[in-house]
Amino acid sequence: MAFEGLAERLQSTIKKITGKGKVSEQDVKEMTREIRLALLEADVNFKVVKDLIKRIKERAVGQEVMESLTPGQQVIKVVKEELTELMGGEQSKIAVSDRPPTVIMMVGLQGAGKTTTTGKLANLLRKKHNRSPLLVACDVYRPAAIKQLETLGGQLDMPVFSMGTEAKPVDIAKKAIEKAKEEHRDYVLIDTAGRLHVDTELMGELDEIKAAVKPDEIFLVVDAMTGQDAVNVAESFNDQLDVTGVVLTKLDGDTRGGAALSIRAVTGKAIKFAGMGEKLDQLEPFHPERMASRILG
Ligand code: GDP
Repeated sequence: MAFEGLAERLQSTIKKITGKGKVSEQDVKEMTREIRLALLEADVNFKVVKDLIKRIKERAVGQEVMESLTPGQQVIKVVKEELTELMGGEQSKIAVSDRPPTVIMMVGLQGAGKTTTTGKLANLLRKKHNRSPLLVACDVYRPAAIKQLETLGGQLDMPVFSMGTEAKPVDIAKKAIEKAKEEHRDYVLIDTAGRLHVDTELMGELDEIKAAVKPDEIFLVVDAMTGQDAVNVAESFNDQLDVTGVVLTKLDGDTRGGAALSIRAVTGKAIKFAGMGEKLDQLEPFHPERMASRILG
């Protein structure tokens, strides 16, 4: 379960303060110290933790708590609001083009779950929003990746555009958009190549596709289970490509939650979706408030 370890620790910490009719500065100090440790143990970015604790402290010893009839509850509310804010506040939706198709580029390192997520997103767009996406296989370096997307397309009964491994990714992407227009498809999901590490060649290619197709969204797919590595990967991709959102995969297996809690603050980019399993229906819009509730119980 996502955030399991963190949830357990934070819930036992805040339990101590919930019922209090009066909250002293000392109480707040103790609570924030424990929250700080729990977050660091959950692999949340050091600076993110520092800033968060500062804000919680300021608010928890402030008027809104002191003047409340249930100060203990009020402190918990403050912590919850700050965690929600940390993860982006409001749920962030897909930017839709007013001239269809809406073009979404999927980028990320190999193994992060990019291809699976492309299939999941297509499934979600059709199921929830009644859309008809075209999937595009732009990873020309790994025939297996093209095959994988074609298999997903088969399972979903959705078209997959590919030109094999000989064509240039940027040409494949451009052709795919032409085809989507002809067929009146409203979304084009471009599955790009990933590498084991961030490298200039990969970024150059992604930049070229970006410049040619001017995507409405560039979703960076990162693996939640890699914690601060995921945050570092997000930072480099964002620096070079200016991504528009993050999809956090494998949150189902991430008991710590460090990436989920750090990425937005470090990169300034919202987490838009979360992968909650390997199946094609296991992609959920990321709701910061619900995530905070999951952590705090
Ligand atoms: P890509 O190389 O980035 O395209 O990664 P893949 O889409 O091939 O995914 C790599 C592995 O991660 C596969 O075994 C997927 O089934 C698995 N995977 C992807 N998303 C999730 C997720 O949200 N939860 C879990 N548990 N596994 C996932």
